[in-house]
Order: sequence, then structure tokens, then C-alpha cells
Amino acid sequence: MSNHKIVVIGAGLCGSLLAIRLKQRGFDVELFEKRPDMRKAKISAGRSINLALSNRGLKALKMIGLEEKARKITIPMRGRMLHDREGELFFSPYSGREGDYINSISRGQLNSLLYDEAEKLGININFNMGCVDSDPDSGWLTFEDENGKMTKIVAEAVFGADGAGSAIRKAAMERSNLIRFNFSQDFLTHGYKELSIPPGPNQSFRIEKNALHIWPRKTFMMIGLPNPDATFTMTLFLPFEGKDGFDAIRSDEDVFNYFKKWFPDAIPHMPNLIEEYHDNPTSSLGTIRCFPWQTGKRTLLIGDAAHAIVPFYGQGMNCAFEDVVVLDKIMDQTGSDWERTFSQFQRVRKPDADAIADLAIDNFLEMRDRVADPVFMQKRKLEMELEKNFPEYYSKYSMVTFLDEMRYSEALKKGRKQDEFLLELCRREPDIQKLNFSELLNELGRL
Ligand SMILES: Cc1cc2nc3c(=O)[nH]c(=O)nc-3n(C[C@H](O)[C@H](O)[C@H](O)COP(=O)(O)OP(=O)(O)OC[C@H]3O[C@@H](n4cnc5c(N)ncnc54)[C@H](O)[C@@H]3O)c2cc1C
Repeated sequence: MSNHKIVVIGAGLCGSLLAIRLKQRGFDVELFEKRPDMRKAKISAGRSINLALSNRGLKALKMIGLEEKARKITIPMRGRMLHDREGELFFSPYSGREGDYINSISRGQLNSLLYDEAEKLGININFNMGCVDSDPDSGWLTFEDENGKMTKIVAEAVFGADGAGSAIRKAAMERSNLIRFNFSQDFLTHGYKELSIPPGPNQSFRIEKNALHIWPRKTFMMIGLPNPDATFTMTLFLPFEGKDGFDAIRSDEDVFNYFKKWFPDAIPHMPNLIEEYHDNPTSSLGTIRCFPWQTGKRTLLIGDAAHAIVPFYGQGMNCAFEDVVVLDKIMDQTGSDWERTFSQFQRVRKPDADAIADLAIDNFLEMRDRVADPVFMQKRKLEMELEKNFPEYYSKYSMVTFLDEMRYSEALKKGRKQDEFLLELCRREPDIQKLNFSELLNELGRL
């Protein structure tokens, strides 16, 4: 047994960034991670090889002084490159503003960057130490290492940053009578499988480098994000069941025929398709909501442990990072009064976590179904014109992705109203040149 001041459970993206910030604030902090050190062991960094990093996440990285280092390992993605069934391409920018784009980053590289910084600051990262039991009030924690050896510690404050399957959350559920702990988990009927596009000749990118590629097919889709080694990580999102679902695609022939039918232009770029389809797991996707996040006097859930969302807005990590920015601001007032800090954090942050969870589901429908719809495409063109010409206008996507000062809950409210209004307008008037933009802007302002 030993005494620790602040303990962060889970050295994933959120936990590592949080530990760094706490250390920078002068706390004695220690990290515990169930998996081995990804910088040494040849293991997959976890779900999804690369991620879209945008302004909210960059703001958190800036707060800890790592924005520039992180930017060096990103690839800017300036818009969506849509692939239709004939292989025709259509590029749809993310924003009408030049400087607004999202960034592809390797989960492993980003996590390693955070580990290096944490260690530089003197934070001890205990790898291969899975938390198996915790008491949220007293701060007692039990860990099991890879050999089954148990260790007990007590902490002044505990942060459960142990992801969607959180052990700290499970401990809270066991005392749900005591704290009226609410929990819901909603799975999509769709799952995902990761595939890849290798580099072309002389390490060239086989498809456009600075875009997020989408093959939208109404009820399912495939997406591709670029990596610095000229590969693309492809993610196939399909229903688990039904004629176009994972269950129906079993043999080598099924895989080939499926791709030939739905994604023919991708086949020449995916020489390992059949092997990867069989070898790579099919994983599920869901939204986890729970409350309270303050599960005892000394314990707080944060990041995916508190609010896991489906990945279609590319905001899960960005939101988890923003959690730390919000917490940090609260700590300016509350300091090391953990009960006050945790209670204020959950009160302020919960509406925003709920909002981004809903927005992420909206975007799933948009990406697989609406991006190729002519009215939707017209609306995007109109939004680009508005963003180019009127600095005060932000589309819903831009509010969520680029306006890091705006709360997710506000982006949802404002963005949905705007979307409805503009879609209706584009249905009525397909020629956007005929619109009076300053009148339109006034109307949008009144929504
Ligand atoms: C397919 C897919 C694509 C995604 N794409 C994006 C994207 O483009 N952009 C984006 O912003 N987000 C994306 N996300 C979401 C993003 O991955 C998560 O929101 C983010 O990883 C959350 O960070 P976290 O630190 O809270 O949790 P995690 O990253 O899951 O980290 C939790 C850590 O805790 C450790 N742990 C677990 N249990 C224990 C235990 N008992 N004891 C000790 N340690 C433990 C785990 O090993 C892990 O290291 C995507 C997710 C998926 C599934």
C-alpha cells in the first residue's frame, strides 16, 4: 500500500492529457494503464488507427503546450471527397474559410507524444496495471498486473479516464442505489471494420491526400483517412445483419463481389482487401450516457468513461480533450476542493456531452445518406458562399468543428434550426445565385 495524491486511471488520450495538465497545475499525479507501453510493445493503439483532430482538441493540446508538436504529425483534410458508384469524385470543402480544416492524426503517435511529455514532467505511468476495484468515496483502488499480482493504493482524488468500458463506472453502478446512478448504452445496428490502402509507387498517395474520403451508399458507407506514410485507413460501416450487412459477406467471393458492386473504384487500391476483411475484427458502435459523473466524494468520470459517442462527427477525442479544458477553467476557482470541482464540472459539461452524442448520430445519417443528395449538396454550396463572404456566419458543421468557443449544446440548437431553414430554402430555390444574401443573413440571425 502506498499513498498517492491524484490518480488518473487510463493513460489513453484523455487520461494522459489530463495528467499532464494536473501536473502543470502543481499536483502530484500518477497514471495507471491496463495495457503495455505502446512505444515499446508492438500492439495496436486501440480502436481506430487514425482520428480526425479539430479545433477543440487542438485548443486542449495548446493548453498543455503540445499543439505545435501535434500539428507536425497531422495531415490536413480540407473537405470530403465523395466517391459515387461510377467512381466519379466530388469534393465538398468543410468550410468556406481558408484556415478551417480538420487533421488526420495517428492515435498511437498522439498517445506516445502525450506519454513522452508526461514522463518529461516526472509523471509516473504504471503500465500493465488494470484497475479492478475502487471505492469512490475513500479513494481506495486495487490494481492487477500482467502476472495477476494485486496492488492497493489510496488516492486523494481519482479520475476515471478508462474509456467506454470503464471499470470506475462499473464500480459506480454497483452503488447505484446510493448515488442513483443512471446509465444507458445504445448500440447502432451498424458495426465497423478497418481496412487499408497501401502507398502507391515511390511512397505516393494513391488517392487525394488532403481529404476525408467517403463512399456514401444510403444505408451504409466506407470512409478513408490519410496517414503520413502514404497509406489510408479505411473504415467500412455496415449493418451487422441483412443482405448488405457483415453477416452476408463471408467468403472471398462475397467480399470481392460486394466491393465490385458498391465500391468498384476502391478495389484497385486495396490489394489486401480480402485478407484484411477476414483478419480484422468487426466492432460495434454505441452511445453511452451516464450520470452522475461524480461517483463519490473523491471520484470523477471523464472522457469516454463518462460519455462515449459514435464516431461520425470525429469529435469523441476532441470532446474528451475539451473536458480537460473545461475542468481546468473550473479549477481556477475551486483549486483542490475536489467535491466542488467535480460537482461543478458535471453540471456544466453534461448538456454538452449529450449534445455532441446527438449531433454524432445526426452526422451518421448525413454522411451515409444525405451527402450525395442534390438538395443537400446545394445547401453545402450555399453555406460555403456564406462562410466565404460573411465572417459572422458558421454552418452547423463549422460551429461543432471549428468554433471552439461555442458550447456543443449551443451548436446543436442553432445548427439544427439553421439546417432546417437552409434545406427548405434550397428545395424552394435551387439556384443559389438568385438569393439575396444579406436578406438571408438577417433571416438566419433571427432564427
Ligand atoms: C472507429 C472509431 C473512430 C473514431 N474516430 C474519431 C475521430 O476521428 N475523432 C475523434 O475526436 N474521436 C474519434 N473516436 C473517438 C475516440 O477514439 C475516443 O473518444 C477517445 O479515444 C476517448 O479517449 P479516452 O481517453 O476517454 O478513452 P480511451 O482512448 O478509450 O482510453 C482509455 C484508456 O484506459 C485504459 N483502461 C481501460 N480500462 C482500464 C482499467 N481498468 N485500468 C487501467 N486502465 C484502463 C485503456 O487501455 C485505454 O488506454 C473514434 C472512435 C472509434 C471507435
